[in-house]
Amino acid sequence: MIIPKANKLDALQLKEVEAIAGDFDCSILEIQGRNRCVYAILGDEGREVMFKRIAGLSFISKVDMIESPYKLMDRRSGLSDHRVRVGMTEVGKDQPFIIAGPCTIDPANPNLYLESAHALKEAGVHALRGGVWKPRTNPYSFQGDNDSLPIILQAREETGLPIDIEVMDSEQLKLALDAKVDVVQVGTRNAQNYCLLKEIGQLTAGSSTAVLLKRGRHMASPNEFIASAEYLVAEGNPNLMLCPRGTTPPLEGYRNHPDESITPLLKNRTWAPVVVDPSHSVGHADFVSACALASIAYGADGLCIESHTDPPKGIGDDPKQAIHPDKVRQLISACREVWKNRYLP
Ligand code: PEP
Ligand code: MN
Repeated sequence: MIIPKANKLDALQLKEVEAIAGDFDCSILEIQGRNRCVYAILGDEGREVMFKRIAGLSFISKVDMIESPYKLMDRRSGLSDHRVRVGMTEVGKDQPFIIAGPCTIDPANPNLYLESAHALKEAGVHALRGGVWKPRTNPYSFQGDNDSLPIILQAREETGLPIDIEVMDSEQLKLALDAKVDVVQVGTRNAQNYCLLKEIGQLTAGSSTAVLLKRGRHMASPNEFIASAEYLVAEGNPNLMLCPRGTTPPLEGYRNHPDESITPLLKNRTWAPVVVDPSHSVGHADFVSACALASIAYGADGLCIESHTDPPKGIGDDPKQAIHPDKVRQLISACREVWKNRYLP
């Protein structure tokens, strides 16, 4: 990892660094953070001479040789001071960052989504979620609909809140990026779809688009999750949030095995904000608040919550696990209290 003295290498300096790396069959990847660029060395970088030659250049501040399977995600990397923003808000600064909204947008009843969006804005959330295209276990269940995209765009227009939608393939990704969605969500089923992760990283590189990467439901070690995130960053987008959302096998009684306790492990190993999804973790509206509060206590930077003004009229997961926006408002205030006290001995 190469850290220049200035915020960015100019074209000549980059050429010089690339020429040295090229002598050792390595290449250089520029990674644009919000305020500055760092440069990863791709290839077999365990060559001392190359390191010394690059470190010796007058415009280089330092060259870090991080022995980590995820060198860009590592909290010792040059991205350690990178901060993720969604819209105008820095994730995890001063208070929990809250994304909320229905699981699934009903294209036949746009008002249900719009009403929920307005109520959530009143409740104090920072961003809206809503499924346009849905990964459904049952092929005969509602799969989402392109017609739902204009509905969430209208909600953004009316509320001024940034929006988060899940994409599962290239076509959906392109539609989402053409619509300038603020957060692209990678769901649990695609958490190790490396082709999709690479494509998202490439198409959002250098942009302000953020990615909410959910933890694979089958993932065991934290490092497996971090490695998936590394794909996005390695393609050039460090604006990413790690989202634990429960794993299988389930803790019987919950939808999944709630995994909010992975949060301090992720925060110790990486610089990325952790935004826990308590809704899919527990799968039942009655248990969402407890999981949300526990997540904040464990050190999460935010939450992604399913919420609907009239859950029984919702589709997808909403009838069983969405909570009312009034509840979200109460939860936000309770989470802020936990946030303030969470590191007390
Ligand atoms: C969702 O957010 O509605 C969703 C399907 O999430 P997950 O990928 O975590 O199941
Ligand atoms: Mn859902």
